[in-house]
Formats: sequence, structure tokens, C-alpha cells
Amino acid sequence: MNEEMHKYFTPPDLKAAKKRGKEEVSVLEFDRIPEEMRRIGEGKKYLIKTYGCQMNVHDSETIAGILEQMGYEGTEEEEEASIILINTCAIRENAEDKVYGEIGRLKTLKTEKPELLLGMCGCMSQEESVVNRILTKHQHVDLIFGTHNIHRLPHLLFEALMGKEMVVEVWSKEGDIVENLPKVREDGLKAWVNIMYGCDKFCTYCIVPYTRGKERSRRPEDVLAEIRELARKGYQEVTLLGQNVNAYGKDLTDREYRFGDLMDDVRQIGIPRVRFTTSHPRDFDDHLIEVLAKKGNLVEHIHLPAQSGNSDILKIMARKYTREQYMELVRKIKKAIPDVVLTTDIIVGYPGETEEQFQDTLSLMEEVEYDSAFTFIYSPREGTPAARMKDDVPMKVKKERLQRLNQLQDAISRKKNEALRGQILEVLVEGESKKDPDVLSGRTRTNKLVNFRGPKHLIGQFAHVRIDDPKTWTLSGTLAGDERIGQVGS
Ligand code: SF4
Repeated sequence: MNEEMHKYFTPPDLKAAKKRGKEEVSVLEFDRIPEEMRRIGEGKKYLIKTYGCQMNVHDSETIAGILEQMGYEGTEEEEEASIILINTCAIRENAEDKVYGEIGRLKTLKTEKPELLLGMCGCMSQEESVVNRILTKHQHVDLIFGTHNIHRLPHLLFEALMGKEMVVEVWSKEGDIVENLPKVREDGLKAWVNIMYGCDKFCTYCIVPYTRGKERSRRPEDVLAEIRELARKGYQEVTLLGQNVNAYGKDLTDREYRFGDLMDDVRQIGIPRVRFTTSHPRDFDDHLIEVLAKKGNLVEHIHLPAQSGNSDILKIMARKYTREQYMELVRKIKKAIPDVVLTTDIIVGYPGETEEQFQDTLSLMEEVEYDSAFTFIYSPREGTPAARMKDDVPMKVKKERLQRLNQLQDAISRKKNEALRGQILEVLVEGESKKDPDVLSGRTRTNKLVNFRGPKHLIGQFAHVRIDDPKTWTLSGTLAGDERIGQVGS
């Protein structure tokens, strides 16, 4: 790594990361693209390949927004692209392997077309080992930038286009919030809105607090203005986005304003559906439950990652709640919102997990009765505290536990969906079904996928669908004509 690169690149550091929190958060405004960079992309196309979570998907929308302001147009065809950016995910080793595979594969295209600019961004860029590997083994990459540097893209791109050296700019220092970044949103129907960045929870298996930095909340007025603007443009649904949305507002020093307050204000904006992700049970407070119970545009679906049903494993995971506290939260939520749909994330085979401890996870699943769950086999993630623990549950056992867990969840999902038979549900029609263009598909307020036959003009609108064939993962139904189930969003 040359000196210039050293200037920008500081590797993630657990000790430094844990000490953080005292620095001021500055709110910056994204400048207009400098005059000399505004037409760089004219007549050229870009392609962004996005891996990982919604945060990355939304970052790609911002990157696309910046590139389009520089004159570039989007494309899905690698051969047409002048710029290919890979927005990476660091959550699991195999996610990283896929990215290396992709970078290796693109070398042929780069050799055929040396003017192609190949860049990498996202969470992997925040890791020292990754940057070193790219610098030594994948020198056909032109540009690497981190999750805190997206707003610097015009300058970095300019530098990469003008120079011959690989441009690397990764800041481990975070703390700024950049407003007014342009965005190209995927569709005109549903939008993601960042409400905060980073995470201070430091769950022992997770790399996010290192790659995304400390928790920092956008100012409520900026979030609300963005949602009002989306409503004005005709968006039907927004999802408020953060690694731990329930911690929203904790870091705002000039006011007492938390996630419940934000949801209460968003409730009063004329956008039909509002979701949020992801929730950490620890910060889920009573005020938020009270606000969510008012419903309206706040949908009755909560994704509440449990990760395990055993308090000792939760402790090793540093989740900062016990099984009992989690169940108490579930009880409160169900009492306030009786028709709530709960979904979750579960990890099996954590270091030291015994059969009895795993059975606690099974029993938690039965007790809560989630509508669905994302289930994972634990695999160590380099750079996290758990990676230093003994990964002592044999893979065969992990796989068998995952299978048992999935079987149980499938049975619960099936039962939950069966209970919807004959009901008329409000569906936001998103488009044609992937399998059959004559079938439309959309989502309920509780985020369940519904397929039904109906006229194409319903795409982008709300329809009422009678569920007559519930399955484990999806619901099939028939259009319920003029039948009304109340006002949209009620
Ligand atoms: S709450 Fe835990 S799992 Fe979620 S992003 Fe933060 S550290 Fe990772």
C-alpha cells in the first residue's frame, strides 16, 4: 500500500471501535457535482452489482443517483457498461467468496476493454485484509471506496479516470451524516429511507459495527421531509431503515426524540404503508408499542430478531436480553396489537450450543409462533469476537438442527397462513408474478406475498383479494371485486 493510500485507509479496530461515541456528529449537505465532473458520464453507462442487505440496496440507489448526476445511464448489460461497481457484503465468508469470484471473472472483460472502470465498495471495503488482497491479487480493480465515503464518489471517480493508480479511499472514521444525496429508487411504489447509520450493539458474531461505524441518527426533520416528498411523488410504501432502528434518537444531543416519536410523526404523513427494519429487542420501548398500536399507515408486522431462545447463548452472543425479557416484549406487543405478525432471525450451532440450548430455541419458536423466520447456520466471521471462540458444534449437527428448526417453522407458517383462508386482504400490487405473467403479485400489510389473477392496471395500486389457497410461503387468492375492507391503510 503506498503512502497516499495509507492516508485514507485505517483498518477496523475493535478497541478503537468500542471507545468511540464521544465524537461530534456533523450533518453535511451533499454539494452539487463540481462543474468539471458533471458531464463525465455523458453517453456512457454504469452497472452496479449489489450484494447483501437492504442498507446496501439503498446505498446502491444513492450511488446510482450520483452517477446519473454525472451524466451516466444505468444498464443491466456488462458489455455495455463503462463503469461496473460491486457493492459488497461482509456478513458471511461465503458472501465474500462470491465477490472475489465476481472480481476474478470480470478480469477477462477488463482485459478486453481496458477503459472499463471496475470498482468495489460496501462493507468488504472496510476490511483491511480485503483491501490488501485486492491490492496484491486483483490489480485490475480501479477503485475501492468505503461505506462512509459514498458522497465522495464524484471526486474518486474523477481521480480514477484521470490516473493510472488504483484509487483507494476508505475511512474508518465515521460520524458524519450527509444529507441531500441524490437517489435513483428501484421503483415508484416502495422506497427505503435511512433514519440512522451504524450500530453500537456489538453482537459477538457481527461485523457491522466495524464496517458501518457507530450509531448516528439523521435529524427527524430531514427524515420527515424525505418521506413527505416520497408521498408527494406517489410512493405507496416506505421502509425506515437502520441496523438497529430502535436506537434511533439516542444520540441526538439537542432533543429528547426517539423512534416512537418518529413513528408517531410519520403516521401523520399521507403515505399508505410504513414499515421499519431492523429492530433490536433491547431498545424496543413501551412508547413505540403504544404508537404502533395506533396503526393507520403503521403496518402490523414487526421483524424482531431473536437469534436464540436460550439465555446463556444470548449472553455469549452479547444480545443484551434474556429469553424472558424477549418473551415479555412479545407479550406486550401481542397485547397491544393482537393481529401483529412477528418474524425473526435465528442462528443455530453457535459456539458451545448444546442440544438442550437448541431445544430452547425450538420452544421459543413454538411459543412466539412467528409467521416466518430467516434461519442460519453459525459460521465464524473473521474480525468478530465469536471468531476467537471454539466453533465446536460439528457441521453435521448444525445442519440437522437447522433442518429441525425449519421443519417446525414451516408447520407454524402453514398454520398461520391457513388461518387466512377466506379472508379478504388488502394487497399492494407490485407486478406480474415471476412464474406466470398472467398472475399478479403483491404484498399484504403484514408483508405476505399474494398471487391472484387480475387486470394489469392494478399494478401499483391496492386491491382486495380473497385468500382461497394458502400455502406455507405464499398465499393465492381471487380478486374480491368491489368488496371493501375499509379504507386503504386502516
Ligand atoms: S444489532 Fe447486532 S446483529 Fe444487528 S447490526 Fe448490530 S451488532 Fe450486528
